[in-house]
Amino acid sequence: MSRILIIGAGGVGGVVTHKCAQVPDVFESICLASRTLSKCDAIAAQLKRKIQTAQLDADRPANTLKLIRSFKPDLVLNVALPYQDLAIMDACLAGGVDYLDTANYEPMDEAKFCYKWQWAYRQRFRQAGRMALLGCGFDPGVSNIFCAYAQKHFFDEIHTVDIMDCNAGSHGHPFATNFNPEINIREITQRGKYWEKGRWLTTDPLTVHETFNFPEIGPKEMYLMYHEELESLVKNIRGLKRIRFWMTFGQEYLTHLRVLQNVGMTRIDPVNYQGRPIVPLQFLKAVLPEPSSLGKNYKGKTNIGCMMTGVKDGRRRKVYIYNVCDHAACYREIKAQAISYTTGVPAMIGAVMMLTGAWKKSGVFNTEEFDPDPFMDRLNRHGLPWVVKHLKP
Ligand code: NDP
Repeated sequence: MSRILIIGAGGVGGVVTHKCAQVPDVFESICLASRTLSKCDAIAAQLKRKIQTAQLDADRPANTLKLIRSFKPDLVLNVALPYQDLAIMDACLAGGVDYLDTANYEPMDEAKFCYKWQWAYRQRFRQAGRMALLGCGFDPGVSNIFCAYAQKHFFDEIHTVDIMDCNAGSHGHPFATNFNPEINIREITQRGKYWEKGRWLTTDPLTVHETFNFPEIGPKEMYLMYHEELESLVKNIRGLKRIRFWMTFGQEYLTHLRVLQNVGMTRIDPVNYQGRPIVPLQFLKAVLPEPSSLGKNYKGKTNIGCMMTGVKDGRRRKVYIYNVCDHAACYREIKAQAISYTTGVPAMIGAVMMLTGAWKKSGVFNTEEFDPDPFMDRLNRHGLPWVVKHLKP
């Protein structure tokens, strides 16, 4: 029986809170804290169970530490924004609490996706006897665990991995992002990057693309992008020769994005507007729909999975592991869209792993560094069933 403090009451925070509330044998007490208290209270009002809520600006470790001291959680689950990661990790160290998140730290003034800032906390978490689990959403998160599961059960060596993320849903808006617009657009507009034969190769943004026939969806154009799990998987998967990440985009989305970029609305440096500095991308976020508001009319499915090739007992093998998630079914269950759902459910399961001791070590870790089996079992039980296909190599 444990106490969990969830930080961030957006689309993902709503899912995490609903899903934790569904597992009372692990999550005895829940506190949802975020910058805007009314958003925490609105989520709390949807639940059958009573939970606590709190106003919190997590940019300052002292604020989070104060809440940790009063609520006394066993784990802090951070689904605010990547900007808060380090401040919340500092507060966890000071308060003697374990930590989990779904997205790696990035400084506000530089859209750089790497684990170096958070991996630098390894020694401090180890010495404090505390655990931090990084990137425990779907991708990163489950994508890493699919690789660890394949490594454990199907391969002696995995040679190639292609992580493929397809959202074939339609929310009815001409342009909206499925998770925080600022973080999403920073990610998509960066240069593409993949790893092959021991080195990183880069491409111009969204210039490399292929068609893939996604199960339960059909053929979709997917674009090569950089994604943070590549950095840890390169270190943790045996025998890897190449790893890439792909995401599908519709033409309507790409056209809007191109126009917004061309007119300067995706800039992350401040510009002077009527005598005060504003960041165009932050202003754009303020006028776009909130991710948590998209669920109501969302139709269609997502398919996220890993295509892997390698060898087992000297024979070549090809394995595809994926999950399909239906936007409307997520909305019926907990008023969420599938991108928030596929992120929030693994975050809750990661918390179960840590709080039940199934995954327990001191230090800072990525999800593929633990036994994938109990996590994979929970995915089936909590709404994200997966499929393994053995294909002709
Ligand atoms: P939202 O924008 O919907 O929610 C973010 C929430 O964090 C908001 O409630 C916001 O408050 C709150 N917040 C922001 N700053 C602070 C702060 N300083 N202190 C306290 N609370 C704060 O985003 P999502 O829910 O869509 O995404 C949440 C996280 O999940 C992001 O980090 C995103 O990158 C990650 N993610 C990970 C994925 C994965 O598969 N690994 C996939 C999708 C998302 P307010 O409402 O006041 O603005």
